[in-house]
Amino acid sequence: DANVVWMKAPREQATYQVAVLLYDITPVKQIQQMQLDFVSNVSHELKTPVTSILGFTETLLDGAQDEPAVRQEFLEIIAAESKRLTALIQDIIALSRGQQQQLQLTRVTIGAVVQNLLVPLQQMVADKQLTVTVTIPPTAQLVTDQRKFEQVVKNLLINGLAYNRVGGHLSVTATKVAQQWQLVFNDNGLGIAADDQVRIFERFYRVDKARSHHQGGTGLGLAIVKELVMALGGQVHLKSQLGVGSTFTVILPEQIK
Ligand code: ADP
Repeated sequence: DANVVWMKAPREQATYQVAVLLYDITPVKQIQQMQLDFVSNVSHELKTPVTSILGFTETLLDGAQDEPAVRQEFLEIIAAESKRLTALIQDIIALSRGQQQQLQLTRVTIGAVVQNLLVPLQQMVADKQLTVTVTIPPTAQLVTDQRKFEQVVKNLLINGLAYNRVGGHLSVTATKVAQQWQLVFNDNGLGIAADDQVRIFERFYRVDKARSHHQGGTGLGLAIVKELVMALGGQVHLKSQLGVGSTFTVILPEQIK
């Protein structure tokens, strides 16, 4: 795995080709580096809302609270940043859950999980006048880790609604293929460009930072999906076209071996 770079040797008369061994990244080192990057990203992401909360609080305490309009505005910012912090912490916990905890296997009815998770999302559906269709046979059941499975479905539902267009559509279907259930989340929302598709499952990767922040996203949703699906012995695939829509397909074994 050594990276070799050919350089010209700085000699007066003759020039030689010299092989320089720059680095040799073993898989272990790569994992260590990824963990370091993750910790540094997390620290940065946590620091931003905390700094903002502290700054606005201090300004209020220094006298800005005497001005009702300013007070209202600053308190709203503090509330929004606190929500963002909560979302980040929840996502970081979800990521660590995927890596560390043992699987707790139970029989899960896919349709019931989807319907239950859609209940608290009705406001998002109404706000954008979206249509959601769920086509899942009652026989669609998995023996899997319910909490991890729910987290996967939740993240994909939220994205399908959040990155949709006004009056858009999200459909969720489940089809049995051999010993596996194939769950398809299809939306006709914003879509994802090819360049972004290859990176979308990376931790903290966002297509459009401003848009994602506005939606309360952390950039961890799809990283969680990927890691949990792998922990559940499955796969996740994406097909998308910018401006047309996206299809996320999750394939899970009926029963984890
Ligand atoms: P976030 O917390 O920003 O939503 P995710 O990891 O869930 O993070 O998603 C990464 C990025 O992928 C998002 O910022 C968004 O731009 C894009 N994305 C995810 N799902 C969809 C979708 N269904 N349609 C369009 N874009 C999406």
